[in-house]
Amino acid sequence: MNLTANNHRIPLNDGNSIPIIGLGTFSEKSVEDLCTQSVKIAIDVGYRHFDGALLYCNEHEVGKAIQEKIAEGKVKREDIFYCGKLWGTFLDPEMVQPSLEKTLKNLQLDYIDLYIIEIPMAFKPGNGFYPKDENGKWLFHEVNLCQTWEALEACKDAGLVKSLGVSNFNHKQLERILNKPGLKYKPVCNQVECHPYFTQKKLLKFCQSHDIVIVAYSPLGTSRDPTWVNIDCPPLLEESLLISLSQKYIKTPAQICLRFNIQRGIVVIPKSFNAERIKENFQIFDFSLTDEEMKNLEDLNKNIRFVQLLMWADHPEYPFHDEY
Ligand code: NDP
Repeated sequence: MNLTANNHRIPLNDGNSIPIIGLGTFSEKSVEDLCTQSVKIAIDVGYRHFDGALLYCNEHEVGKAIQEKIAEGKVKREDIFYCGKLWGTFLDPEMVQPSLEKTLKNLQLDYIDLYIIEIPMAFKPGNGFYPKDENGKWLFHEVNLCQTWEALEACKDAGLVKSLGVSNFNHKQLERILNKPGLKYKPVCNQVECHPYFTQKKLLKFCQSHDIVIVAYSPLGTSRDPTWVNIDCPPLLEESLLISLSQKYIKTPAQICLRFNIQRGIVVIPKSFNAERIKENFQIFDFSLTDEEMKNLEDLNKNIRFVQLLMWADHPEYPFHDEY
């Protein structure tokens, strides 16, 4: 497939398509208007895909940027692809549509392009995004993920979302959805951590065999914020192979990382709220890596996650105990 800056959508299993690069919008720091400005810059640069979530508390800023660019005539609604996420406190079936409606209200949109279950782990509803008891113990909750999925299918039938997917699911959790009696819509994607230090070879093969696209979060190795990132794993962008390839192609290590994934058919959603880096991360369509270079990059795999979510390791649905 010949991907270009103007034409880089890849097909989804439900007949829709997804731009192979999107702008991640999760930020630890909330700086007034920075998110809106960044999304607007990204649209000018050529990004059409935005990865957000109710949990990130900045969907209204992303929505404002999209609305302003539509009003300017720079893009039409149908050019934009927005992915929203259903957080773990909203996995009870009756909470699914109200949660999606909150996202739509924040964005001032009447549909989104993709809605994904953010994590397979449910938390007790009604006590904020991160519920704990008075002793500081996590308030886990039990749901049947297949029933959550049916509620998502109803949202698609109601026209509130075009495609449905999951995130942070292991292959057994995905299989549970795929094998659900009466399944109406298959997940189109599984959004998971993926980069040269964590290549997801087995999950990728599994997903490809079911026509499910992998969307790579933290494709540059995250922000390395120790409050949520495993910083025992060395900084990805300082990897010597990435540096030598960047010298060969007159590119940056970040661009090599992103190119590696898109050449494997994996969607990337690098986050940047810096104008230069937003531009840089999009300049990945004018070179390609050789088969040997791809193999050497795959061999960098360390099987170590930057995003381990270890605080929830004793949740019954913790996804990362399984190999993939
Ligand atoms: P990334 O791998 O995208 O890295 C982001 C960090 O890298 C930021 O600190 C950014 O800083 C910096 N950066 C961006 N571009 C460059 C560059 N060219 N060179 C050097 N540094 C750069 O990590 P994220 O964890 O943010 O993942 C991306 C997105 O994935 C998130 O924003 C979110 O949308 C999604 N996500 C989903 C998860 C899930 O559970 N489903 C979990 C984690 C993320 P600066 O902004 O200053 O440029």
